[in-house]
Amino acid sequence: MMGASNPHPHCQIWASRSLPNEPAKELASQSAYLASRGSCLLCDYLRFELDDGERIVCQNEHFVALTPFWAIWPFETLLLPRRHLGAMDALSDAEASALADILRALTIRYDNLFESPFPYSMGFHVSPTDGTAHPEWRFHAHFYRPLLRSATVRRFMVGFELLGTSQRDITAESAAQRLREAPATRYLERLGKTADAMR
Ligand SMILES: [Zn+2]
Ligand SMILES: [Zn+2]
Repeated sequence: MMGASNPHPHCQIWASRSLPNEPAKELASQSAYLASRGSCLLCDYLRFELDDGERIVCQNEHFVALTPFWAIWPFETLLLPRRHLGAMDALSDAEASALADILRALTIRYDNLFESPFPYSMGFHVSPTDGTAHPEWRFHAHFYRPLLRSATVRRFMVGFELLGTSQRDITAESAAQRLREAPATRYLERLGKTADAMR
């Protein structure tokens, strides 16, 4: 459903000589925020979301998953570490375990939304590796998921969205609420079935 040539989960690591557009925009915003306020944009944002609470999906000792208020894709989430760190190599052993734990917790909730494997593109954004320090950059991950109302109807970005600007189908708050309320155990286990039986 995400356009893969083969239905299988796969992972890629991209490194390029110049910054691609999305991380370049994030770098500019994080740098400008640090310069003007003397604090970290995503650290301040996480504090704001934890105080508010309405867009939090799930959390553990070291990580928080939330639906950012600027979310465009239905059920889009942002994953943030509680501690300021720039990249995966700065994770402690406990944080690495907590990251694995929250990835599992979040993807189970996604699958439970429509009781079907939920296709997605997910990626980590790590600090630039250009040989200079990047105190402004905070390690994070984005989950972009195309399903909106059912397991089979995909959300496309077309028409006004291609030619104008993005439109929102559901609010970040309602997406977070539905994900929070989705069961935290695998639906196949709740149905008493194994993955093999579903194939
Ligand atoms: Zn920070
Ligand atoms: Zn990012």
